[in-house]
Amino acid sequence: MKPNYPSRLPIAHLPTPLEKLERLTRHLGGPDIYIKRDDQTGLAGGGNKTRKLEFLVADALKHGCDHLITTGAAQSNHCRQTAAAAAKYGLGCSLVLCGQMPDTVTGNLLLNHLLGAHLYWTGERDRSQVIPEVVAEVETMGRKPYLIPLGGSNVWGATGYVLAMEELATQLSRANVNIDFVIVGSSSGGTQAGMVLGARVVGFHGRIIGISIDHPAEELQMHVAALATATATHLGLGTTAVADLVDVNDDYLGGGYAVVGEAEREAIRMVAQLEGILLDPVYTGRAMAGLIDLIRWGAFTRGQSVLFWHTGGTAALPAFADKLL
Ligand SMILES: *Cc1c(COP(=O)(O)O)cnc(C)c1O
Repeated sequence: MKPNYPSRLPIAHLPTPLEKLERLTRHLGGPDIYIKRDDQTGLAGGGNKTRKLEFLVADALKHGCDHLITTGAAQSNHCRQTAAAAAKYGLGCSLVLCGQMPDTVTGNLLLNHLLGAHLYWTGERDRSQVIPEVVAEVETMGRKPYLIPLGGSNVWGATGYVLAMEELATQLSRANVNIDFVIVGSSSGGTQAGMVLGARVVGFHGRIIGISIDHPAEELQMHVAALATATATHLGLGTTAVADLVDVNDDYLGGGYAVVGEAEREAIRMVAQLEGILLDPVYTGRAMAGLIDLIRWGAFTRGQSVLFWHTGGTAALPAFADKLL
């Protein structure tokens, strides 16, 4: 299968490193653990949205748009990376952030200010009410807006992770490493959707397990499968069967979105102190807590290999200082 990729901007620092976590592997005494460093993709702190934005911003420029609009939580990594991409290409950027403006400007929110984004707070309202108002305002300024959905999770965004699987396959074959399982935090679904389609494209046979960050498994599974199928069509791959490749685990939802609990704290400290690698409080801390728990319960055997896909998010750490100490 050869995808017909749309045009893409070379934004990300690629390929991101593939590393073995020797000390974490020994500490947990289970499968061999590898990590894919998409926390090192660039755009003012890195993260998985950079690969998505390579295709999204290319599409914006193709349509002559000069202003990016997107939405997310107050500490959204996606919003910060979008603001950085806009700056890099000389585009305006408006961010619709959920809830009230917090008292302390830190983490990704601080970076959004430094990157020159215009910020709108939804307050009590739903973001779907606020976004059209911001679109209209940008148009009144005489600019042409390009709307990027939550998490950049549409067929353009997911395409970034189809390509990422090609990158991984090349790295694995050069390093002569076989991967049995991939663990990735999954929320708006674009990353996992791209990965499962990419796995089909490159003939990757490891099982990709999305650790749900904030949705019931069935709901996220259906969403990811639908997006992967739509992305297959978008890339000219026809009716590629991908739904059966979508595996979602919702055992680690904890106290809800962005609620840091003991499991996330333990995972963040463990990986920091054994490997010198920072995870984030909302996504990768939770996904790693899931991996640690699965290893402890014997979900994998010794001799098997697990790849933890680091999707970034460390820019949010300072905003959660009081929950992490
Ligand atoms: C957005 C994000 C995710 C989830 O990716 P989706 O494509 O939305 O499922 C995971 N980790 C981090 C750090 C993120 O910012």
